[in-house]
Amino acid sequence: MYLVFMCPRCGSLRYARENQKTAGCFKCGYRMTVDPTKIRILFKTDKSEEAIAAVQKYKITRGRAQNGSNNNFLE
Ligand SMILES: [Zn+2]
Repeated sequence: MYLVFMCPRCGSLRYARENQKTAGCFKCGYRMTVDPTKIRILFKTDKSEEAIAAVQKYKITRGRAQNGSNNNFLE
């Protein structure tokens, strides 16, 4: 299972395996604990392609929406 979640420092999206303990943010380098009580999990998938696609889609969506309305992603 893969988790797609948000970096608590810069808000960029990334993904990691569910059993992974920590993950480094690609953008700001922040090292976060992969724990649903500590980070914001957007969704889970058992396909890595789906996790990657979600991260890519989020980048595109974010690039278009400049008014800070990024809280409605996948919710
Ligand atoms: Zn970050």
